[in-house]
Amino acid sequence: MKKSTLFIFLLFALTACVNTTKTDNAQQEWAPVKINGQLQVKGRFMCNEKGDTISLRGVSFGWHNLWPRFYNAETVKWLKNDWKCSVLRAAMGAYSGVEDGYLVNPEFALKTVEKVIKASIEEDIYVIIDWHAHEFYPELAKEFFGSMARKYGKHPHVIYEIFNEPTHEHFWPEIKVYAEEVIAEIRKYDPDNIIVVGTPHWAQHVDIVAEDPITGYDNIMYSLHFYAASPLHQVPLRERLQKAIDLGLPVFITESSGCEHTGNGKLDIPEWTKWIEYLEANRISWVSWSISNKNETCSMILPRGSYEGGWDTDVIKPTGVQSREYIRFYNTTDRNYENLR
Ligand code: MG
Repeated sequence: MKKSTLFIFLLFALTACVNTTKTDNAQQEWAPVKINGQLQVKGRFMCNEKGDTISLRGVSFGWHNLWPRFYNAETVKWLKNDWKCSVLRAAMGAYSGVEDGYLVNPEFALKTVEKVIKASIEEDIYVIIDWHAHEFYPELAKEFFGSMARKYGKHPHVIYEIFNEPTHEHFWPEIKVYAEEVIAEIRKYDPDNIIVVGTPHWAQHVDIVAEDPITGYDNIMYSLHFYAASPLHQVPLRERLQKAIDLGLPVFITESSGCEHTGNGKLDIPEWTKWIEYLEANRISWVSWSISNKNETCSMILPRGSYEGGWDTDVIKPTGVQSREYIRFYNTTDRNYENLR
């Protein structure tokens, strides 16, 4: 080997080595909470401890009572390291319309959901404790969130979502009363972690809420859910969101997908991409629905995929492949994580 060839060879070897080390470090150090710390809401924006505007991006587990087997530390670890999620959502079924939920089996619900909460804290990732209901249970919700706040309120990782999707039969004045009661209970024990409030009509009427938001508490956000393949969830829903953010409402997309609003039907990637680009341009956090293996479009994993992460792309369904791609792209190019690259 000539001297100059050897030199070029060594240079390549050295560069490869540096790149590998860099990638390894990035994988080891994907630590969203270490970087952002205690979250806060300033104006309509989610901000980190320093006050910089940030976006969280990640996935929601499916109903805990239908897919409890995904609720474990290995899956949390995989979603953090391979999908590069900065937030996960534990969807605790608390609704009479489903079997074996919190209403009838609270012990199992807590055991299941707490596996994800604890693993998320361990993995340094944000976690939404979601009261996955379509009905009001104010006393139960207060008891549950009071206990969660006592137990986890000291951890910056935790976000409370107190009512997943009010339906078309729930109007803002009654949701607001419910939310104020649950928020007051959480704030007895946890003065600061973010609380997300559900909005009317399956979490779609942020515009109505923006005209009469909850006052007297800090760090409150409001949820909007979209399913991009349904025409009513495209321009009309984005217009409602635009109205809400123009009025200064802090919005968090705690559920979304590229399929139809039923969770099934076709997958519309161009419309989904329009949504994600809009959210990114407006610094709005978003979560995709869901880690489950049901025979429907929004469900991300095939039945033969493991319950403990480690998924090759051949066991991830198209919605999951696309979610992973959006999450990895936007999280790893986010300016808040520059020091990881
Ligand atoms: Mg706290």
